[in-house]
Amino acid sequence: MLAFAAARLLTPTDSVEHPLVLVDEGRVFEIQTQSSRQISAAISISDFGDSIIAPGYVDLHIHGSAGYDVMDDDTEALPAIERLLTRHGVTSYFPTTVSAPVDATLRALERLAEAIERRESNNKDGERRARPLGIHLEGPFISHVRRGAHPTEYLLAPTLTLFEQFWQASRGRIRMMTIAPELEGAIEVIGEAARRGVCVSLGHSDADLGAAERGIAAGAKHATHTFNAMRPLGHNTLDHRSPGILGAVLTDRRVSADIIADGVHLDPAIVKLCARAKGAEQTVLITDAISATGMPDGRYRLGNFEVDVRDGKCMTDGKLAGSVLTMDRAVRNLARFAEWELAQAVAAASRNPARVAGIAGKGVLAVGADADFVVLSREGEVLRTFVSGVEGTR
Ligand SMILES: [Zn+2]
Repeated sequence: MLAFAAARLLTPTDSVEHPLVLVDEGRVFEIQTQSSRQISAAISISDFGDSIIAPGYVDLHIHGSAGYDVMDDDTEALPAIERLLTRHGVTSYFPTTVSAPVDATLRALERLAEAIERRESNNKDGERRARPLGIHLEGPFISHVRRGAHPTEYLLAPTLTLFEQFWQASRGRIRMMTIAPELEGAIEVIGEAARRGVCVSLGHSDADLGAAERGIAAGAKHATHTFNAMRPLGHNTLDHRSPGILGAVLTDRRVSADIIADGVHLDPAIVKLCARAKGAEQTVLITDAISATGMPDGRYRLGNFEVDVRDGKCMTDGKLAGSVLTMDRAVRNLARFAEWELAQAVAAASRNPARVAGIAGKGVLAVGADADFVVLSREGEVLRTFVSGVEGTR
């Protein structure tokens, strides 16, 4: 049995003052206040003083970090990425693909599935770092008009056959898929993916309101980097009333939405708008981080193309191509931009993504949940990260 004390615990649904968190076999065993629980002398308490304990962060959209891309055929890639994630408070993540030739995508999915299975069967190994829990397939089922940095030549129309191929290669480990609902064949693929438990997310899309609503009716329940690579909200003239996909995403109660709160992808005022529209339960933070994250400015890979990184901006072909954002910074930015309490911003990086993606036992600190947690300063800086109750390798 391990015991952890701090000034405050964010579960994050509730806030507990002077908590004592008991951990057994990598799971939360009991949550008490320090005054109400007598601890046997045999149990040593780690006391974090005036710091805050919060759930470990969950990143549903990350392409790479520390010089590596998740699609790299290199056994060093995921461990290096995971150590950097751990340093920034992330304890679970979905490695995210980018549009690439079908063969390259299939091979990447196979490798990622193997990596996920290895970590599952080796849950008690020595090194504690962020765990890959599923794969996010971003592309190739996206719009040419809103492709962002995804190379045109690799975009494909969605078909059940192709989806099945990806699914088989991933051995059912695709847990999230970004798709443009207006593409021919998209509605069928959305329906099938949703039936298999995939979190279907609308994105890289030029959908009008009707097409977005059809996607939602078919089973889509989330939106990818909201506002970025989406048809803009247009409403300025009498003959141009075009709420588009954003009109649906921002107002439909069934849909949650993720945002890149790096101050580059969205103006702080738009972060605030999204946070207000989707509220404390359905706002999700992602990083969309690429291999350049945690590295100096320079030239880096994203999937199989190159990106120039300067002053926090990742550019290819004059377009933004992912970010160098880390989740700890995203949390602090959201709190500042949206004028939210730290607890609400923490929930957008923990409880909300876990719930949206259907990840059990993560994103909350409650009895029975995995003891994945961060120790935060009062300002929200990540001081330490624990995976299954053991301090992570940074
Ligand atoms: Zn994207």
